[in-house]
Amino acid sequence: MKKIIVAIDGYSACGKSTTAKILAAKLGYVYVDTGAMYRAVALYFIEHYINCTNQKAVTEALTQIHISFIYNHKTESSDTYLNGLNVENEIRKMYVSEKVSEVSALPAVRKNLVEQQQKLARKKGVVMDGRDIGTHVFPNAELKIFMVADMEVRAYRRQQELFARKQIVDLADIIANIESRDLMDTTREESPLRKAADAYEIDTTYITVEEQVDCIMNIAVGRMIELEYRVEDI
Ligand code: C5P
Repeated sequence: MKKIIVAIDGYSACGKSTTAKILAAKLGYVYVDTGAMYRAVALYFIEHYINCTNQKAVTEALTQIHISFIYNHKTESSDTYLNGLNVENEIRKMYVSEKVSEVSALPAVRKNLVEQQQKLARKKGVVMDGRDIGTHVFPNAELKIFMVADMEVRAYRRQQELFARKQIVDLADIIANIESRDLMDTTREESPLRKAADAYEIDTTYITVEEQVDCIMNIAVGRMIELEYRVEDI
């Protein structure tokens, strides 16, 4: 079967990463968590006191940032590395969540990361999740998914994820953070979060992760068969 690009976009904490990770494993594809890349840049900016309004400092900082993903056999998923250091846990902390949307709105940051994301999918066979994957990074992706869910459910899921990482955060603080990120992500000038016209929308409020994966898997297989037997290719 021809390999495709699966672009999964949507609001924070709708289950994109969990679903994308399992889907990639089932398809034998590479999974790329672009949110982790923006988080790693935000962490670097925090640690190096980079002022987002100082364009020169931002450009210079970007030349010093190297992000990679290395498979962790214990967790059976990839960890994010920033300049050779495993930052998987650190980038999920609230102080990074509070900074990331400001950093990700910077055109220089987006240009830099989008180029890296496009390189990662040169050979296709990739499931990539984020905010602008179907609209900007891969406008021609063979399959686009847009995930949504009710706020309470999103916040609760994020709270559970943080708890699993030994971080106890108040639900109200999580809701405030998600709301402010939604607002910044949808209103920024540079490739704001929006649903691509040709994306399938999946509301994950009342469905389990398994159901989300099954649903996308069915659409993906259908899409692959369709591409394999396109009339113009026969
Ligand atoms: O997916 P996650 O919640 O980890 O993403 C963190 C932040 O990174 C988002 O709130 C958004 O500001 C930014 N982001 C983005 N474009 C992407 C992925 C993430 O702007 N493709």
